[in-house]
Amino acid sequence: MVETEILIVGGGPAGIISAITAAKQGREVILVDSKSYQEIGNKVCGDALNLEPIKFLERNLGIPHPTGNEVADFVERAIFKSHNVSFPLSGDGYVLNRHPYGQRLLKMAEGLGVEIKDNTKVISALYDDFSVRGAVVVEKGGEGILSEIHAKITIDCSGRNFIIRKTLPERLFPFLEKHLEKRDIAATYREIISLKNQDHPYHNELYLIYDETIPEPGYFWIFSKGEKQLNVGIGWYMDRKSDRGMKELFREVLNKYYPEGTYEVLDKGGGQIPTRYPLTNAIVPGFLTAGDAALHVNPFTAEGHGPALIAGYYAGEIASKAIEIDKYHSEEFLWQYNNKIMNHFGLSHTKIQLFSEALKKIKVSGLEFLIRRSILSKDQFINIHSGKKLGLFEMVKIAIKAFPRYDILLTIARVSKSTQKFEKIFSNYPNDPENYPTWKNDFDIEMNKFRDTYE
Ligand SMILES: Cc1cc2nc3c(=O)[nH]c(=O)nc-3n(C[C@H](O)[C@H](O)[C@H](O)COP(=O)(O)OP(=O)(O)OC[C@H]3O[C@@H](n4cnc5c(N)ncnc54)[C@H](O)[C@@H]3O)c2cc1C
Repeated sequence: MVETEILIVGGGPAGIISAITAAKQGREVILVDSKSYQEIGNKVCGDALNLEPIKFLERNLGIPHPTGNEVADFVERAIFKSHNVSFPLSGDGYVLNRHPYGQRLLKMAEGLGVEIKDNTKVISALYDDFSVRGAVVVEKGGEGILSEIHAKITIDCSGRNFIIRKTLPERLFPFLEKHLEKRDIAATYREIISLKNQDHPYHNELYLIYDETIPEPGYFWIFSKGEKQLNVGIGWYMDRKSDRGMKELFREVLNKYYPEGTYEVLDKGGGQIPTRYPLTNAIVPGFLTAGDAALHVNPFTAEGHGPALIAGYYAGEIASKAIEIDKYHSEEFLWQYNNKIMNHFGLSHTKIQLFSEALKKIKVSGLEFLIRRSILSKDQFINIHSGKKLGLFEMVKIAIKAFPRYDILLTIARVSKSTQKFEKIFSNYPNDPENYPTWKNDFDIEMNKFRDTYE
């Protein structure tokens, strides 16, 4: 049995930043990952990362921006593209080479004194009647002998696996959600390709391509990885059906841009991304969770790297303070983490979810109709997509122009109205756990009502 102050499960962006933050506060930290040391930080991904979280890390932890071989390309804009329309969304940032960037952060954590236990798989949470106490682990390639790591605080950053949260009993921790529905997970497949005889025209841009063959609102992406290389992928919600397999459909769409034989595949793989509004509670005594494990991914674009970095920082910060003042089993103290997440992106991700659900209903053809007929301006589209509300005057103008597609108009009006309701609900987000059950009830009623409309 091993003991530590903070146990972090997972060395992805959320876990590594939690570790760096806590170590900088002088805390004793163990980070476990089932991957080997050399593989930590490597993940099948679209590799896009916007500037905001990078600046956040620089401001709060002094971590320099990605540089050298960590950067595959700089991004100036993201482009929404469907069969008939194409227009830019905001999107300064990077296309990364995630592996070297992740390795730099890993080495930084290690340099700050974090103990890295690689090839170590967490099997389940350790807990008593009141609190999480650590984890049960097994060494990969060993003899299958289970051992325990005891910790004052355990931070679950195990991504899609959410291994600690999922193994905590509902009976003891009723306000920590345990299940993830199919409609809240995107299945994805991507390849890194190198073009044989040509450069590509995608420098500094991220293309999100809404192709009619992909179950809506799934998309195909083309991201530049330098002069000849591209990161190309496909993804859609797991409750959406396609008559073809994901790889088959991927190849079919890619063929429209680059026929087979014109490129070499350098890397390939798939993965699942939780794409729902964040957990509205991500703590119990002795426990916090961050990143994909806490559903921190943007529910429309499926960007989760940035939110994981930000949430990792908050988790490390609150866990460290809790230990410093001996409040690591205090739900009241740890609750501050929920407040930070809800303030930073809880509301905006929830509003983006509404937009994403509405898109399932009006479909890309409906969105094209709005844009081609100039019913929605680019700014209004961005406002709805990022969860800002439309004023009454704007709605009336849109209504007049939308004739005869009032079904679409009704959907926009519903999104706009629900957006405002959620703004109100989030403005009442409790500052302590005591008032959470009532708040959560109000939240669930509104969210279920909205989602049921679009089932
Ligand atoms: C195909 C694809 C494309 C994507 N494209 C983008 C994109 O372009 N931009 C973007 O921002 N996001 C993208 N994402 C999402 C992004 O990759 C994640 O949101 C991000 O990596 C989340 O970080 P995390 O630290 O929460 O989890 P992860 O990065 O998943 O890290 C979890 C870590 O936990 C470890 N682990 C898991 N289970 C256990 C266990 N039982 N015991 C020990 N260790 C364990 C894993 O080995 C891993 O190292 C994409 C995801 C996929 C799958």
